[in-house]
Amino acid sequence: MRELPPTVKAAVLAARAEHDDPVSAFVFDLDALARHARQTRLMLPEGVELFYAIKANSETPLLEVLASSVDGFELSSGGELERAAACRVARPWLLSGPGKLDSELRAAMACDIAAIHVESLSEIDRLSALARSAGRQQAVFIRVNPALDARFSTRLNMAGRASPFGIDEAELEAAVARVDASEALVLQGFHVHAMSHQKSAERHQALIALYLDKWPRWRALCADPARVTHLNVGGGIGVDYTGEGGFDWPAFCAWLGETLAAWPEAPVLRFEIGRYLSAFCGYYVMEVLDCKQSHGEHFLICRGGTHQFRLPVAQGHDHPIIHVPCHAAGEGQGQVWTVVGQLCTPKDVLSRGQYLDDVAVGDVLVLPLAGAYGYNISHADFLCHPRPMLHFIGTGRAGGGV
Ligand SMILES: *Cc1c(COP(=O)(O)O)cnc(C)c1O
Repeated sequence: MRELPPTVKAAVLAARAEHDDPVSAFVFDLDALARHARQTRLMLPEGVELFYAIKANSETPLLEVLASSVDGFELSSGGELERAAACRVARPWLLSGPGKLDSELRAAMACDIAAIHVESLSEIDRLSALARSAGRQQAVFIRVNPALDARFSTRLNMAGRASPFGIDEAELEAAVARVDASEALVLQGFHVHAMSHQKSAERHQALIALYLDKWPRWRALCADPARVTHLNVGGGIGVDYTGEGGFDWPAFCAWLGETLAAWPEAPVLRFEIGRYLSAFCGYYVMEVLDCKQSHGEHFLICRGGTHQFRLPVAQGHDHPIIHVPCHAAGEGQGQVWTVVGQLCTPKDVLSRGQYLDDVAVGDVLVLPLAGAYGYNISHADFLCHPRPMLHFIGTGRAGGGV
C-alpha cells in the first residue's frame, strides 16, 4: 500500500492538527475492519467456525465491530476476560494459554465460558476440582502439541517441538482419560495452535490435512467418541508486511471446502484468528522530528518509536512507510532513509532502506498494517514517553457491502 484511504488520511491530518506537540498516534478504520472480517468469514465453508483471538488487539471498538462477524472470542487471561466483558455484544468465549490462575478459571466459569483449553495434565486436575466446586459441567478442549515434521518449521513455531503449550501426543491418552474420569469436565474437542504468521496457504493446507488425519485417532481415545465434535485449528494466518506475497485466504478456503466435503467424519472445524483479522485496519502515525546524516546513512527521527510499535522489530522486517507531506513542495530531499523513533537505543528502528521523496521535518509517516500486535506488544513505559493517542474512525456499520 502506497496510498492511504482518504478517510484515514483525513484522520491522520486531524490527529496531527489536534496535537500541540508533534504527533504519534494509532488510527483504526472500523469500517474497513468490518468489511474485511465479513469477507474473511464469508469465504469460509459453511459450518466452519471463526473466533477472534483478542490478544492481537483487544481495544473495545474493535471487539464491538468484530463481535458481529465472528462466532466468539478466544481469550488468554483474566485481563482479556474483562476486555471481552466490556464489549456490549455478547459472544461465546474460549479460554486458553499456559499458566492460567485459579482465579481466572473461576472468573471464566462464572461468566459461563463456552470452552476452556487445557494445556497440561495437572491443569486438567485443577480445573476439574474448580468446576466441581462451582457446581458446573465445563466443556473443555485438550490442546495438543502434535509431532510435526520439518516441513512445518517456521521462526515462530509453537508445536512439533519442545514448548510450554499443549500436551504431547504421547500423553494424550492419559489426558483424555483424566477428562473422562472427571464428572465436572466434558471433552468437546481438541485444539492445536502450532504456527504464527504462516504466509503460505499451501503449507497451512498441509498442516490442517495432518490434523484431520490425526483427528480420528485422537477422538477414539475418548470413552464416548461421538460426543467429541470439534477440532480447533488455532490461528497463525500471516500478513504480507513487506510485499513478498501474503496468505491466499480465498484459495485456502476453497481447498478447505473441498477437503471437508470429501473427508469422512470431518469434525466441526474452528479457527481462532488474531493477526489476519485485525492487522489491516490499523495505522501507526509518526511525525518527523529531525532529518540527519550519520556516517553516510540518512535518518528520519520521528515521534514515537518501537516502544509504541514494536511489531517491525518483533518480526525482524522493514515496515512499509507511507509519506504524508505537510510542507511546501521542494523543501525536502529525495533520499533513502532509515526511519527511527525517539528511544535512546540503536534498536529503535522501524524501517531501513525506504526511498522517500521530498521529506521534511513536520511531515507525517504512516505505517500501515498496524492493527495487530502493534501497540499492545510494545514496551510503552520505556523512557517514560507519553502513550500514543488512539483514534477510531468509522462505525463498523457503514460501508458494509461485501
Ligand atoms: C496467539 C494465538 C492465536 C492467534 O494467533 P494469530 O497468529 O494472531 O492468528 C490463536 N490461538 C492461540 C492459542 C494463540 O496463542
